Formats: sequence, structure tokens, C-alpha cells
Amino acid sequence: MLVNGAVITGKSATAKGRSAEEVEQIRAILRGRFDSLNTEYESAVAENHKLRLVEIGDAAGDDQADSGSKTAERDAATSLLRTLLDRRTQAEHAMQRLDDGTYGNCEGCSNPIPWERLEVFPSATTCVHCKSNRERRAG
Ligand SMILES: [Zn+2]
Repeated sequence: MLVNGAVITGKSATAKGRSAEEVEQIRAILRGRFDSLNTEYESAVAENHKLRLVEIGDAAGDDQADSGSKTAERDAATSLLRTLLDRRTQAEHAMQRLDDGTYGNCEGCSNPIPWERLEVFPSATTCVHCKSNRERRAG
């Protein structure tokens, strides 16, 4: 009996004060974001691949300056890919947290992330404070 009660309580706590409509709204935003990032990522991968093919094709006739600008181009393409992949992973991660019922709480300090922040960055999983702490540590 007690166990049943706990399970029900656990389930109803999923939305953490957020209405089902709000959760669905966030899910739709995150899914849309994930899809568009996915499309962007895939076209960037294709673009990158093309760039490499051209590079291999021309490599024989390159002089120093040419290969320098190609390296820069490739670096830019690689960093774009990394950024897109990061954002896609973030959106995916946020959707998982939505399913777990932990969405909207900071991964650092577990305080609720302000709604205004989530509206601007729906895939945010940390509050502004913890985010800047993390970045400081990373840098
Ligand atoms: Zn925090």
C-alpha cells in the first residue's frame, strides 16, 4: 500500500509545478530545435565532405598560401560542426530531462532555472550562475 502511494506521488511530481501544457510546449520547442539543428548539422557534414574532396583533388598543385587558406576554411568548418553537434546534444539532453522530470532544475545547484531563461534558452540545463562558474573553470 505504502509502495503504491509512493509511486503515484513520484509520478505526479514529474512536472515539478509546471502544467502539462507548458511541458508539452517546451517539448515541442525542443523537438523543433533538435530537428533544425539536425538538418543544419547534416548539411554541414555534407559540405565538409565536399570541401575535403575538393582539397584532395587540388592538393597536388597547391602552393603554400593556398593550402594555408584551405586549412583556415577547414578549421572553420570543423568548429561549426562541433558547435552544431554541441547544440544538438544539448537539445537532446534537455528532452531527456523533460522525460525524467528533472527539466528546469539546474544540474549544478539543483535550484529551479528561471522561466525567463528557459524561454530564451530552452535547452539550458544550468542556471546562469552555475553556467558562468563552469565556464570559468573550463577556461
Ligand atoms: Zn545552478
